Amino acid sequence: MDAFVCTTLASRIVFGAGKIAQTADEIRRLGLSQALVLATPQQEAEAKTLSAQLGDLAVGIFAGAVMHTPVEVTEHAVDCYRQTKADCVVSLGGGSTTGLGKAIALRTGAPQIVLPTTYAGSEVTPILGQTENGLKTTLRGPEILPEVVIYDPELTYSLPIGISLTSGLNAMAHAAEGLYAQDRNPVSTLMAREGLRAMIEALPVLRALPTDSHARETALYGSWLCGTVLGNVGMSLHHKLCHTLGGSLDLPHAETHAVLLPHTIAYVEQAVPELLAPLAALVGGRAGTGLWDFSANLGAPMRLADLGMQEADLDPMVELAMANPYWCPRPLEAAPLRALLQRAFSGRRPE
Ligand code: NAD
Repeated sequence: MDAFVCTTLASRIVFGAGKIAQTADEIRRLGLSQALVLATPQQEAEAKTLSAQLGDLAVGIFAGAVMHTPVEVTEHAVDCYRQTKADCVVSLGGGSTTGLGKAIALRTGAPQIVLPTTYAGSEVTPILGQTENGLKTTLRGPEILPEVVIYDPELTYSLPIGISLTSGLNAMAHAAEGLYAQDRNPVSTLMAREGLRAMIEALPVLRALPTDSHARETALYGSWLCGTVLGNVGMSLHHKLCHTLGGSLDLPHAETHAVLLPHTIAYVEQAVPELLAPLAALVGGRAGTGLWDFSANLGAPMRLADLGMQEADLDPMVELAMANPYWCPRPLEAAPLRALLQRAFSGRRPE
């Protein structure tokens, strides 16, 4: 066996249908009593319901979370946190709301309780991406990692099926890259394999029946495992490329992950097929082409062209990706990278 280092991040995970009811106990367990509830404008009603359930333990609601955690929004939220004399945040939502909670925690030391409603996985990572003047920067630190995560599958029943599928593929991207991470360890690999298995089982069932409670549970369980892999080991080509495209062209987060995943995995698979064999076994055939077929059967987005990218963006994106080198099991080369992006742009199956 290869030598390894495994650092376990300390979060408390509470999982189960109806566990939102345990939020008050979790606040008290941390010795706290004044929660600011966070949400997006679209999920304000759910935040109000949760706040009402918390009674005196809730001191306010800030329902202004938006994608990519703009610093201006965070500053308003921090003002609200201070004005309400809150002593913790309760983030109810997807990666955008979790990102706002992390940004508040970074500035105030606020403990965080997160109730995820998508499969993004941010709740179990010590990573914060925030934007200022259109520039996205990524920070890492123990103070960013939420203290408690309450996974209540019932909160995902309302997630529209299209977002459920792309969010699930976004989760799978964390685990797929975890399989070949330079700093992977036996535990991260186990989690990656099980996270992928759970998602691959759940997503086709959800596509047919979005309210299937068992599949909702399985997908949320998978998202926890996939997110934990993201929080514990380094990501590579896929995440960097999504970051480059998402940041420069303002493409939607989960959809960009969904479209690129089969292509980036096919690229890496040429160098390390043995590391991607567990994923290949789950999707059938090879990992890259199998993932492409899996996504196509789900009816997930398949073309960057449909997400707002222009053909003229292809060359500048290759240049940008090449200008910012990072470790990848298969070294980055301009011509194959250009071919990868062209296929993802037009929705062609990887070779
Ligand atoms: P999101 O949080 O922006 O949610 C997308 C939309 O769906 C929002 O309008 C939201 O209100 C709505 N929604 C969420 N859950 C719902 C539900 N159950 N029912 C109905 N509507 C619901 O999207 P996301 O993909 O979860 O998060 C994307 C953001 O998270 C990006 O900014 C990304 O950079 C970040 N992210 C960060 C990390 C990390 O580790 N730091 C990891 C993954 C994603």
